[in-house]
Amino acid sequence: MRLILLGPPGAGKGTQAARLVEKHGIPQLSTGDMLRAAVKAGTPVGLQAKSVMDAGGLVSDEIVVGIIADRISEADAKAGFILDGFPRTVAQAEALDAMLAERGMMLRAIVELKVDESALLSRIENRARETVAAGGTVRADDNPAAFEKRLVAYREQTAPVSDYYAGRGVLKTIDGMAPVDAVSEALDAALAR
Ligand code: AMP
Repeated sequence: MRLILLGPPGAGKGTQAARLVEKHGIPQLSTGDMLRAAVKAGTPVGLQAKSVMDAGGLVSDEIVVGIIADRISEADAKAGFILDGFPRTVAQAEALDAMLAERGMMLRAIVELKVDESALLSRIENRARETVAAGGTVRADDNPAAFEKRLVAYREQTAPVSDYYAGRGVLKTIDGMAPVDAVSEALDAALAR
């Protein structure tokens, strides 16, 4: 099963993706996680991406498309994958279409988690608090200034990705404001449709 999860930062994509990983035994491919790993490891990609990420902007299409092209070719992604945080621009969606066609891969679903923007900042603040409570390190971009920029990037560059798929009649939308278990159920139903 190959699936794309769309939605603004704080919509719950990561939480739902983790549950789908358990359920279906396929990997979650989060470009955000991969980029953070590259930053931590100090790779050339990480060095290039760090300041953009910290400020809440988008890393170049070229970098993330390259990362995903490599990652979906790995052995553990053969049976399927969940894309979380990619594609984030229409150019990335077009590049993804091309790489899937090239590999003869089909998507099962493209699901958008719809969330009220007013709820997002408090969700991000909660995530930061929970991370601290668990002894972890808060993401450099989980602060109000970077978050505002991430929302602008979402509105201007990522919302059109939903339109891109909706225009092709392949977008499924579910209510991301519902409790986590209810969102999981709606997601399962959307995947079964
Ligand atoms: P995330 O963990 O998905 O919230 O991503 C964290 C940050 O990584 C984003 O704010 C961007 O700076 C960068 N990033 C992640 N995925 C992408 C992508 N598909 N395109 C561009 N930048 C991305």
